[in-house]
Order: sequence, then C-alpha cells, then structure tokens
Amino acid sequence: MNMKTTAAAVFAAVSAAASAAIEVVPMPNKAVEKPGVFKSGSGSFAEVARAAAFKKDASIPAEGYRLSVTPQGISIAASDDAGRFYAEQTLKQLGESSRGPKTELSFPCVEIEDAPRFKWRGLLVDDCRHFFGKEEVKKILDAMAVHKMNVMHWHLTDDQGWRIEIKKYPRLTQVGSVRNGSPKRAGDVAKGEKKKGSRWVFDNKKYGPYFYTQEDIKEIVAYAAARHIKVIPEIELPGHAVAAVSSYPELGCTGKNPGVRWQWGISRDIFCAGNDKTVKFLEDVLDEVCALFPSDVIHIGGDEAPKHRWKKCAKCQKRIKDLGLAGEEGLQGWMTRHFTEYLAKKGRRAVGWDEVLAGDPGKDTIVMSWRGSKGGIAAAKRGNDVVMTPNNFCYLDYRQGLKNDPHEYIGGNVTLEKAYSLEPTAGIPAANAKHILGVQGNNWSEYTWTPRELEYKMWPRASALAEVMWTRPENKPGFENFRARAKRMSEYLRVKTGIVPAPVQ
Ligand SMILES: [Zn+2]
Repeated sequence: MNMKTTAAAVFAAVSAAASAAIEVVPMPNKAVEKPGVFKSGSGSFAEVARAAAFKKDASIPAEGYRLSVTPQGISIAASDDAGRFYAEQTLKQLGESSRGPKTELSFPCVEIEDAPRFKWRGLLVDDCRHFFGKEEVKKILDAMAVHKMNVMHWHLTDDQGWRIEIKKYPRLTQVGSVRNGSPKRAGDVAKGEKKKGSRWVFDNKKYGPYFYTQEDIKEIVAYAAARHIKVIPEIELPGHAVAAVSSYPELGCTGKNPGVRWQWGISRDIFCAGNDKTVKFLEDVLDEVCALFPSDVIHIGGDEAPKHRWKKCAKCQKRIKDLGLAGEEGLQGWMTRHFTEYLAKKGRRAVGWDEVLAGDPGKDTIVMSWRGSKGGIAAAKRGNDVVMTPNNFCYLDYRQGLKNDPHEYIGGNVTLEKAYSLEPTAGIPAANAKHILGVQGNNWSEYTWTPRELEYKMWPRASALAEVMWTRPENKPGFENFRARAKRMSEYLRVKTGIVPAPVQ
C-alpha cells in the first residue's frame, strides 16, 4: 500500500463521521474536519475567498478542487477556473456554518478534496407557459452556482408562447409571444364549483407580449458564464409549435392559423416536416440561436408530437415516400437527423427528449430521458449519450407532499426524499454507464404563475438533485443528514439570493 492509497482510505473512513460541521450542499466527495478555526478578521466572504492562496494543479480533475483551511490560512488548488470557483462556493458555505461573533468571519479547519460525479448538472426553466423574466432567471443562476450546477436548460418556444427574439422572423414575438388568455381549472374560478363537462375555464386575460430580446439573451448568457453555467436553449420541433405556426401559418400542414394556444396539454398543430420552407425557417432560427448561445449543445425538443396532421398532409406524405421513410415516426426521425447534422456543421450537438428514439436518431443525438429512466437506459445501450431527467424523480412541477401547501401542481408526487434517492445509472450495464452525462431537474410552468411559486417548487428539491449530480453515491451521507443541511441551505439561499424555498418538513 503506497502513501496515496493510505491517505485515500483514511479520507473515506473519516468523511462520513466528520460531516457534522461540513454543512455544505452538495456534500463534498472527501472532507476531513480538523481541530481549530481560521478567523479572517473583517471582510466579506467573497473577499476572504479572493484572498485565499491559489495554486494551479493540473492533476486535479476538471471542475474539481482541493481546499485546505488551517488556523493560519486558506489555500485552494484546482486545474481550471470552475474548480477554483467551486472551492470558493464551498468555502462560503463553511464560513456560514461557524456562527462566531458577527464582527469576524470564522471557518472550521478542513481538508477537502472534491470533484463532480457528473459533468451535466442541469436545471430547466420553462419561460413559455409563464414568463418569469430576466431578474428571476438571474436569481436562479445565482442559486445554481451555489449548488455547483452548470447547465441551465432554457425552454424558450412552445404552444403557449414564443419567448426569444428572432430578427429574421419578427412575427414570432409580435404575434407568438402573446396569448389571449390562460386556463384556470374550473374549480378555481368559482371556488369548488366545477363546471360540468369542462375541465378548463378561459380566464380572458391577455398574457404578453413577453419575450427576451437578443440583448437580454446576451446579458443572461454572460451572467451565467461568469458563474460557470452554460445556457442551453431549447427550440422545440416538430411539436409544441403552435406559437410559431400562429405567427406564420404556412409553417403548419393546414396553412390555417390555430391562434397561440391558451390551454395546456398537447396540440396537433405541429410544424410541417414535408415543407421545405418550414425546414429553412427552422435552420434560420437555429442560425440566430447559435449566434446568441455559445453552448456546444442545442436542444431541439422532439417530445409530444402527434402525427394527425402529417397523416393527412400531401407534402409530409410525399417526403415519406420520396425518402422511403418508415411512416410518420420515420419522418420525425428524418427531422431529428437533419437538424442534428445541421447543428453538427456549426460545431454543436443536438439534444432531444426521449421520444426521438422512436425515429432512430443518429448516434450523435443526446437523449434526455423524461418518461422515467427507460428511454435513457435504452439510449445508453444503443450508444447515445444521455441526460437523466426521469419525471418520477426530477419533475419539480409535481406535488411535493408538503402539509398546507397552497400551490397547484400538474400532478405526480416527488417528495424531497424521492428526489434525493435518484440513482441515475440504475439499470444501466457498467459498460454503458459512461453515456450518462448527468442529471437535470425540470420546472415546467403550466401551473406556476409567479416567480415566488417557481422558487417554492424548485427549492429545496433542486438542492437534493444537486447532491445527486455532484456527490458519488458512496459519499452521500443519507437523507436525514441531507435534510438538516437542506434547512440551512434554504436559509442561505434566502440571505444570499432572495429566493424563498418551500419549507423542509
Ligand atoms: Zn405537413
């Protein structure tokens, strides 16, 4: 046994027992508490972090770091800027955990050696069903940075609203960012009195125009980059396209204007895959999107695309026949491959929801598994990279199981403990596990009307998912330990970001 393995073994043995004062989320992978504290005198946490001794060490894995706090001072080592940034995040949380006299910041002495389990640590924000705006998005990015999350998946186009300015197609935001109203459950309108035969009541309140200008987008992308967060935009195709088709009816199969959708759910009015003009339109949109987002990955949707219109459309049927495709699913597969290749020419990778598997996508398409983990397991086995976002663990618009929760949810049930219990590689053969790029929490916003509601549904469950993304299973100290840290993290978020999480019960 050499010195290195001895040290590793000691780390492993002590880390679980020593976690009492390591009140950090996500839990570092190796942490040993030492006697004593470091007192920094006056100055902010950010100033203390900046004043720490820093050493570049190429042997430390990407995004990883070493952090040493002794009574004499603080030192950090990392191989990249992200690792240094994450060391500072850990340090700030540690400082908070030793509540000494107010005039002086103090930090418990520790030796931490840490690196992420997964490289994709994501959170989805749906600005289409309800629009939250730039200031709220920045708060979410702040909270993500605290949790060492590094991907914001930004859902920007859908049936109920098109939220990104595209210069070549101004009607997308002039027309597509406004809907004439939104649904309320019948029972909400007249408390408890459900209208017979109709589930929804139209609220008759114009919603919009709400969208991000290209300048707004640049501002958000830069804000995220300063926090080592990549912003991945989602341009939905071929489904969830009603706002676009309402702006330019010739993009659909019928040529008719369906009107920006006010109900939630799934629409039959999807993009016409047989029309070359529609394909060109989507290429033009992706050109502007790629110019705005430096991300190496672009999301092209692919979910919930009913084929009713395609079955009756001469152009779609002609494309199927000409290319010898396997029916309408084959046509969607052609579309997925076409835009995967289109993005590849621009040096980007396409990611799609797990429905894209039905159309035999190329091996380069990243698959986002949302209908449970099945799609992700199948994709990993066939050699596609995967992001795990199974709805039964990762959907933060599902009920939380809280007492006296005033909010409405889409359904489902994902408690804090359930989110914490996700094992993203379960069911995947060891040889294919390398295809699991990471994990993502999704905040669909049909039932989430305000920024406050969004925060309440997102946190602390996203804290639990952050630990799944970062901490190796053998280093996760268990749910009860997490629950105590989650309470403290909620307070930390309130103070540092202004976010108000749901209570930890
Ligand atoms: Zn068509």
